[in-house]
Amino acid sequence: MSKRRPITFWATVFVAVVCLSLVAIDGWRSWNARTQQLLEVERSATNLARAMAQQADDTIKAADTSLADIVERIEVDGAAAPALARLQRVLRGHVAELPQLNGLFVYDVDGAWLVNSRPEPLRERNNADREYFQFHRADPARGAHIGTPVVSRSSGKWVVPVSRRINRADGGFAGVALATIDVDYFKRFYQSFDIGQRGAVALTTNAGTLLLRRPFDDATIGMSMARSALYLAYRGAGPVGSVFLESPLDGEVRLNSYRALQHYPLFATAALSKDEQLANWRRDTFLHSLGVLLLAALLGLFGKRLVQQIGLRVEAEAQLLGARDALESLNRQLEKLALQDGLTGLANRRQFDATLAGEFSLAGRAAAPLAFIMLDVDCFKQYNDHYGHIAGDACLRALSQCIVALMPGRRGELAARYGGEEIGILLPDTGLDEALALAERVRAAIEGLRIGHRGSPAGVVTVSAGVAALLPRRGAGAPARLLEAADKALYAAKLGGRNRVCAAAAAPACA
Ligand code: GH3
Ligand code: MG
Ligand code: MG
Repeated sequence: MSKRRPITFWATVFVAVVCLSLVAIDGWRSWNARTQQLLEVERSATNLARAMAQQADDTIKAADTSLADIVERIEVDGAAAPALARLQRVLRGHVAELPQLNGLFVYDVDGAWLVNSRPEPLRERNNADREYFQFHRADPARGAHIGTPVVSRSSGKWVVPVSRRINRADGGFAGVALATIDVDYFKRFYQSFDIGQRGAVALTTNAGTLLLRRPFDDATIGMSMARSALYLAYRGAGPVGSVFLESPLDGEVRLNSYRALQHYPLFATAALSKDEQLANWRRDTFLHSLGVLLLAALLGLFGKRLVQQIGLRVEAEAQLLGARDALESLNRQLEKLALQDGLTGLANRRQFDATLAGEFSLAGRAAAPLAFIMLDVDCFKQYNDHYGHIAGDACLRALSQCIVALMPGRRGELAARYGGEEIGILLPDTGLDEALALAERVRAAIEGLRIGHRGSPAGVVTVSAGVAALLPRRGAGAPARLLEAADKALYAAKLGGRNRVCAAAAAPACA
């Protein structure tokens, strides 16, 4: 069977639940805010990658369109001096139109500079050693080729080479047309992004060669990223995606969003530092959690005080109840004592008087007889003189016990110590004969106790009794009449020689 737990237990549970709920709800809210922040970071990185891919696509496309035009012209018009002069004007026109273009160049079958967008022809130079030249010489494909950035031989700047093959009429290799795009053009664009202190963006070829990266570092240009986790993710998961990765270049954990260019074999990456992007969230969460913990601690302290107060109150209530019970039992005892005779344990005179008055009026209403026996110990003065007062008291107690044992057990009956060694027995709803019989039984029983009494003619302790009975009537007189009648009968019993019972009506005749 489960024990009922005290109110303080439930109050403690309540306070604990409130505090824990507060902390749990705030923890959940913080985690939610973190998830939202990371989603926001992903959205930003995705948008950046999209903008970069679009810009790179557009930039290269414009240069490539110029290249296609140049290739077409040279293949149709040939490389004679007038045609080249006209072509040079076209080249200069393109470069003037497109801000991203560093220069446009045409190389002949041996890599010699045929014509370019610069004012001077620089024909003595040869670019047969460049990667794009060798690529086109070996590969008959007609599409654009994007090479690894190089330092331009004409301008000394970092450029991204975009090239196309020039064919002879029979399809044989006739040279290369090249457009160089300023790396600075990309740099300026990338510089405009807000990617925090530790963010990074990059443009990489589908073969894994890094073309350009912010933070800018020339040493990283042309670096192979083919073994990086990001490149593997891009190759494995498709043209668009996002992934959290630790950078092999600086060890920073970033959310990397990548997106392939639409028309060229490159992909753009925008990477935002997880740590940096969560910095605001961390500061907010720290302050918030501090506040909530403080609140929970205050609540806990307050709750503890409250529980203590409840405990004290419960204890005080229990003490109060205990005190009330003790007082009630004491009162009952006092009440009993106040109505009891201390020596014999019989009712005292006060209880007797009260009972007599009550029974008198009850009997009057019920028209029932009320009887009274007045007992007096014979020659008790001598008993005291002979055996001492202590023995006298013991004798009175013995007689009282004997009387109590003989009481018929009727409602309202009462045996009381009426005076010093006088005992009265009140018997409601009892007629004279019945009362006389009881008095006689008492007298005989006391004689039968055989308590030695040298000062008495009988040699043992005896009692005399006067018995009276009446039918109380309304206004028929006070209860004193009953007592007087019994007293008179007792007097008659004494006169008659003691150790006998006399009836009031029949006085002085005694049994
Ligand atoms: P009688 O036969 O005429 O009644 O003679 P008695 O000696 O008994 O006379 P009475 O009734 O007048 O005497 C009362 C005596 O009872 C006086 C007193 O010594 C004694 N007595 C009264 N109350 C007590 C009591 O509480 N204890 C003791 N030991 N004796 C008491
Ligand atoms: Mg007496
Ligand atoms: Mg007496």
